[in-house]
Formats: sequence, structure tokens, C-alpha cells
Amino acid sequence: MFHIGFIKTVLSIMRYVHFICSKILADEVSLGFTQEDNNKFKQALKIRNPKNRLRRIYDACKSTKFCGGGDDPCIQEQQDTDEPVKKRGCCGSMQPNIIVDGMKMVVEFKAPKENDDKEKSSEPVERKQILSAERVLEVLKRIGDEDCLLLGLNPKFARPDWMILQVLPIPPPPVRPSVMMGTSSRSEDDLTHQLAMITRHNKNLRRQERNGTPAHIITEFAQLLQFHIAT
Ligand SMILES: [Zn+2]
Repeated sequence: MFHIGFIKTVLSIMRYVHFICSKILADEVSLGFTQEDNNKFKQALKIRNPKNRLRRIYDACKSTKFCGGGDDPCIQEQQDTDEPVKKRGCCGSMQPNIIVDGMKMVVEFKAPKENDDKEKSSEPVERKQILSAERVLEVLKRIGDEDCLLLGLNPKFARPDWMILQVLPIPPPPVRPSVMMGTSSRSEDDLTHQLAMITRHNKNLRRQERNGTPAHIITEFAQLLQFHIAT
């Protein structure tokens, strides 16, 4: 699940790294970039202050639509697009557009525009998908320690994948004491009520998964749980 305090940071990390291979999009000599972008990236790497460096790396990454990271060709996932993948840069596959909508992350794949005249009539097709926190976690886990450092995150203390909730710490009762209502009845703290909602929806989700419920329904249950966790 997404953590409401980290979702914006997670979004920007997702925009710096390639969706498929998790490498930083910009590269010093990448073919997928203009010379200007490559220079921008080279310049950015020289900046010592992590925050300033990150801003400059973002400048170098934001205009690209193709991955240029690293030397190893990465797995070309075809599930998201059946268009032929254009060979550019090292990995060569496209970088989708990623946005945050409330507590949802949405990924938009744009089919590459063809230069041929005969293709003029066909508009680029957009494919939107809800991006599950699980999928984001996979991308973040694959980010190498070197790239983490470039992004200003010390992998010893702040791995990007730690920003996705896999377990939820529950505060002990003294943090959320029940309150006396009048003389006889007690009422639970708001936190206790909310934690009860979370565990209930978590159990529901687990049960649906066990029963082999269709994916789109699982997504709805997951979003309900996400809502309660954010609350
Ligand atoms: Zn890649």
C-alpha cells in the first residue's frame, strides 16, 4: 500500500527511473537523448548537494520518453503495448507517463507516433492502467544502490522501496486510550476504530485473493484498504 506521506516522493522517483529496468533515465552518452540532455545530466552529476543534484537530474530526465539507462539490455515487457518497441538508448523501451490521482497511481502508455505519412490518420493510442503499490514496489526494489545515491537517497538508511507499506506498525493502547463516556460506558479512541477498519479490510482482501476473485474486483478491495490506511 502507498503511504500518504511518501506518495509524492515515490511519484518523483518513479519518474526518474525507467518503469521496466529501474535505471535512471538520463545517461551521459545515451542515444535516446539530445546532446543537450546528456550534457545536463553530466553537469548534474557534479553537484554535491543532493537536493540540488536531484533537481538537475530531473531536468535531464523529464523530456525523455525512452530509457537510456545502463549497458545491459533489459527485459522488454510486451504486456503493456503490442506496438513494436522502438530501439533507442540502451534499453530502448518507452517510459510511460505516471501521475497520482488521490491515493491512486496511474500509468499512461502512449503508442509511439509513426513518421510515415500512411500512419497519419491513426492517432497515438493511450492506455491507462492503475498502478498497484505492489508493481511500484517491484520497480523501486530493482533500483541499484548507485542510482539511489545519485537520487540523494542513502541506501543504508532510506531505500526507496521502504516508502511502500508492507507492514503497518500498530501503536500500543497507551497511545490510543479508551475514553470514559459518563460513568459506566467506555468508548474507543478514533485511532483504534480506524485500525480495526484496516484489519477488517485487510482480511477481506486476503479472503478475496484466496478465493480467486477476478483482478478488477481485487483492485477495488485493495483501493478500499488503501483508503482506510490513508485515512
Ligand atoms: Zn530501461
